[in-house]
Amino acid sequence: MSESEPPRRKTLSLKSPVAAPGGPPPLERMVKPSARTTVFTPQAPPPVEPPPPPATGDWKCKPCGTRFDPPAELADGDSVRCPSCNARLGLASDFRSDPPNVAKLRARWLKKA
Ligand SMILES: [Zn+2]
Repeated sequence: MSESEPPRRKTLSLKSPVAAPGGPPPLERMVKPSARTTVFTPQAPPPVEPPPPPATGDWKCKPCGTRFDPPAELADGDSVRCPSCNARLGLASDFRSDPPNVAKLRARWLKKA
C-alpha cells in the first residue's frame, strides 16, 4: 500500500453522493394487462344493443344524474330517494308543492314552468 494521498483542502466540502438506499432501481414499470381476450363464438348472435330506455322523469338526481319521478305512493312526509343511488333527495311534499321547493331538494327539476 502506498500512501500517496493528496493534501486535503479545507475549502472543499465533500458531499457524498446520495445513494439510493437499498434496492435496485425500478426498471420495470408496472404494466397493466389491458389486453382483453375476446372470445368470439360464431354461434353467438351479434350483440344487439337494446334501445336506451326513454329518459323519463321530471327530476334529475343531483348526486348521480338519474332521471326519475317521485313515487306517487309516498306520503308527504316521506323522503324521496333516488331510484339509482338511493340518495335522500328530499321530502315528497317538497317535490309536490307547486312550484316544487327545489331549494330543499337535492334534485333538479327538469320541467320548466
Ligand atoms: Zn341518484
